[in-house]
Amino acid sequence: MTQDSTVGELLFKTLSAMEDERREDCIHCGENWYSIHYRDGVCHSCQQKHLPGRAELARRKRHIQVMYGLGIVGLLFLIALRIFS
Ligand SMILES: [Zn+2]
Repeated sequence: MTQDSTVGELLFKTLSAMEDERREDCIHCGENWYSIHYRDGVCHSCQQKHLPGRAELARRKRHIQVMYGLGIVGLLFLIALRIFS
C-alpha cells in the first residue's frame, strides 16, 4: 500500500513537472497555456490578432536602436556643419 502510493506520487510529480514544462506565458496577454498552442511566445488568440512573436520583437528593437544611432550621428553631423562652416 505504501509502495503503491509512493509510486503513484512519483508518477504524479513527474507528470506535473512535464505539464509545467509544456506551459508557457504569452508575451502579450500573459495567458498561461500549453506550449503547443504557442508560437514564438505568442498564444493562439494573439497570433490571430497578428501580434509579433519574440524574434520579431527582438528584430524591431534592434531596428529601433540602429535608427536611434543613425539619428544621433546625423544630429552630430548637423552640429559639426554649423560649427565648422
Ligand atoms: Zn496572448
